[in-house]
Amino acid sequence: MASTMPVPETLEKLDMYIDGEFVAPASGEYFESFDPYTARPWALVARGNAEDADRAVQAAHRAFQSPEWRGMHPSQRGALLRRLADLVAENAERLGELEVRDNGKLLSEMAAQLRYVPSIYHYYAGLADKIEGSVIHSDTPSFTFTRHGPPPPPPARPPFTSTRHEPLGVCVGIIPWNSPLMLVAWKLAPALAAGNTVVLKPSEYTSASLLEFVKLVEQAGFPKGVVNVVTGFGAEAGQPLVEHPLVRKIAFTGSDRTGAHLYSTAARDIKRVSLELGGKSPNIVFEDANLDNAVKGAVAGIFAATGQTCIAGSRLLVQRSIHDEFVDRLVEFAKTAKMGNPMLLDTQVGPVTNLPQFEKVLGYIDVARDEGVETVLGGGRAERPECGDGWFVEPTIFTGVRNDMRIAQEEVFGPVLSIIPFEDDDDAVEIGNDVVFGLAAGVWTENMRRAITMSERLQAGTVWVNMYRAVSYTMPFGGYKRSGLGRELGQQAILEYMQTKSVWISTAEEMANPFVIG
Ligand code: NAD
Repeated sequence: MASTMPVPETLEKLDMYIDGEFVAPASGEYFESFDPYTARPWALVARGNAEDADRAVQAAHRAFQSPEWRGMHPSQRGALLRRLADLVAENAERLGELEVRDNGKLLSEMAAQLRYVPSIYHYYAGLADKIEGSVIHSDTPSFTFTRHGPPPPPPARPPFTSTRHEPLGVCVGIIPWNSPLMLVAWKLAPALAAGNTVVLKPSEYTSASLLEFVKLVEQAGFPKGVVNVVTGFGAEAGQPLVEHPLVRKIAFTGSDRTGAHLYSTAARDIKRVSLELGGKSPNIVFEDANLDNAVKGAVAGIFAATGQTCIAGSRLLVQRSIHDEFVDRLVEFAKTAKMGNPMLLDTQVGPVTNLPQFEKVLGYIDVARDEGVETVLGGGRAERPECGDGWFVEPTIFTGVRNDMRIAQEEVFGPVLSIIPFEDDDDAVEIGNDVVFGLAAGVWTENMRRAITMSERLQAGTVWVNMYRAVSYTMPFGGYKRSGLGRELGQQAILEYMQTKSVWISTAEEMANPFVIG
């Protein structure tokens, strides 16, 4: 857990990055960042506050107005992003290890993410000079039709009308702890490609990798102030960024509770927001599915990343006719999960990232038991020797879950799976959609008609059929309902960081008498 404690001199101090320099926090205070595998602190992170947030936003604002950045051509921005992508690729393993140190996720996953991140920067680098406005033939100005009677003929010389997409200004990216640099890339790459400047606020649990990454931003040649990092706690360092009058957009990934709060704060200045929030995604197994694949898909949906992923398939809906057989096969497979040191490449389930989250997951296990579920696997803290003192929870599977139970409705964000039986397609849709979230859904079937109709009927931003947990920079990603607003990734994401201007240019030699309408 992040805490402010006396500063042990042996821990490395990590400063913030503002206006092209690493700077100490205005308060002079640092807090500890913990390694979830050992449950011990390993670094000290600058504790930012409103003063630091203001310095960062002012720097980003100056950079946005500077001829160096404002005057840069889109293809030059693309070239900088390409250079950054190459630098990340060269440093992927090192950055991945830093992420594991802070968030305890498996090195195999974090290193794979970091090897993938450069593609995201390359993709938006390619889009930077393909942001196109339109020339629109507009020969029907609205005022011509306000009088009764037949519409007059269109003007002989219609105006020249076009649209252009312009950057918003200073954008703030607020990042959670589960996949820090990948979720930074989802925001930073389109924001910079569009010509904005950015202030990033990492989670208080995972600041280290971002502070290493900004060194690569500088090395790539981005002008100072274009990218800034303010570290610290949400209420102290994040909130002042969201409230700052010079900020034009907030791109947030995190819990639905914080997202709702930021949305209402941003509304005061009519700031743009995009929100990628939590989920309680249904992973639905029909009796006609390839059950071997479905078992793997169920495990990938919940035990990958120790369940700490927004798209976790935490509600497994199994058709009643195969329920018992499927549960047996699933438990057999899930039992084989190798737990332990996340830095070892053969570890399959690592610790939970931080102490409050660890306690929250254990709390939900108690809640489920009190609600009357049956525990068919795990169900508590992992006491295995290979888990040491770390924050490990046994992979846990509950049966006998009803969809109206808390364990089926609330996001646990841990390795806890709730299995709910269903009768037929309609029942699966009703249970699948009966939740406040709508981030993702999985469907396992060999029936093509069912695959198509289920993908249409499920209320989720992403539906996978016979696969789970696939995300690509080419595909829009985001939530229905309480899972969020707006879309990240894909081509349309760049427009989330732009505003459209309509330009009207008269070609008439003489302006009409304004007292005569029509
Ligand atoms: P969180 O909401 O607690 O924190 C997220 C970030 O918001 C952190 O950087 C935190 O410091 C900051 N923050 C908190 N209060 C703030 C405030 N008042 N003002 C400004 N910033 C503030 O979430 P978390 O626990 O770090 O992450 C887990 C959550 O993220 C889960 O709910 C998960 O589903 C969600 N998530 C969603 C996606 C997605 O793409 N939809 C991806 C990953 C994680």
